[in-house]
Amino acid sequence: MEIYADNAATTKMSKTAINAMLPYMEEIYGNPSSLHTTGQIAAEHLLDARERIAKCIGAETNEIYFTSGGSEADNQAIISAAKNGAKKNKKHIISTAFEHHAVLHTLNKLEKEGFEIELLSVGKTGTVTAEQVKEAIREDTCLVTIMYANNEIGSILPISEIGAVCKEIGVTFHTDAVQAAGHVHINVKEQNIDLLSLSAHKFHGPKGIGVLYARKGILLTNIIEGGGQERGKRAGTENIPAIMGMAAALEEAVNNLDKNSEKLTKLRDKLISGLSEIPHSTLNGDPVNRLPGNVHFIFEGIEGESLLLLLDAKGIRASSGSACTSGSLDPSHVLLSIGHPHEIAHGSVRLTFSEENTEEEIDYILKAVPEVVSYLRNMSPLWRDKVNGIKPFVLQ
Ligand SMILES: *Cc1c(COP(=O)(O)O)cnc(C)c1O
Repeated sequence: MEIYADNAATTKMSKTAINAMLPYMEEIYGNPSSLHTTGQIAAEHLLDARERIAKCIGAETNEIYFTSGGSEADNQAIISAAKNGAKKNKKHIISTAFEHHAVLHTLNKLEKEGFEIELLSVGKTGTVTAEQVKEAIREDTCLVTIMYANNEIGSILPISEIGAVCKEIGVTFHTDAVQAAGHVHINVKEQNIDLLSLSAHKFHGPKGIGVLYARKGILLTNIIEGGGQERGKRAGTENIPAIMGMAAALEEAVNNLDKNSEKLTKLRDKLISGLSEIPHSTLNGDPVNRLPGNVHFIFEGIEGESLLLLLDAKGIRASSGSACTSGSLDPSHVLLSIGHPHEIAHGSVRLTFSEENTEEEIDYILKAVPEVVSYLRNMSPLWRDKVNGIKPFVLQ
């Protein structure tokens, strides 16, 4: 059996998305900036995609800016809000300790340029409250940037409540919604979101294309200089095939969201309850406000990397954390942020599903994981010390 359970890293493209792209690699190949008919036909299709994407998140068509993906959208959103703040001498930015590196590394850069970055603690369940945000906001706060849902442990954050707080006080609010778009309902107007990032390859669209939504009135700073595309805010000839694929994938995801979410939640909860029976293990992330396809566990006394490779040999494609940190020896900043010591944080596995996964696959995983965990524990001297009472267990 081969089971793809790493949908938080990337998803397989849907047939709908692939079919939506093909005409734009064959007949409709014009450059939308060209004034002739071939170009203007492409421009019409581009506008149509922009309208459809805007509708999916409750935005206006001219608030949608196409980018090369989630990372670029995060960079541009944060740098723009920081520049706008600096003009008014506001240089305090609020975020959380478990953001994606596209956010955290951009904030690090701004810190070196004189901004003050305050990372809210996310507690044991891995979330923040709107009250935390409210208390942290100061006179000189220019931006609150808080992810919609965490890419490792799957917590969904109270974005509507945080949006309401930011709106009330008048602080710009950005959310990295890369894990949320197409998986939970988003409405930027109702939720008072000023800036939002999304990426097509996390909802069965193509890689290398994303969106920055910027509410009318928020001035964007260019990251890519050049031609006047994207209302002068993001240069470069539009990647129309990818944009059309993204529009089709997002519509498909949003139209099937409730059905997929119900199916995934059932699979997820079955897997969570089965894996919870493994002694000295813990589920990470908010157990209730949780992405429908995310299961994230720590098993004491094992190396996540070894678990990952043994599962791979059994056909299960999982992750030991986020794709960006695998391959490095540092434990995930997300697991440290929810209070796990280094020793424990190394024993993590993330299984993330899409609507294509089946109950048979969950049953197979439920058999494989306990086998592999006990195999690894039996080989571990550290585990033996714990069993023999020489060293204490961290997880009960
Ligand atoms: C994947 C991901 C990104 C990066 O998106 P890319 O399109 O791969 O650049 C940013 N934030 C989160 C939460 C993600 O999961």
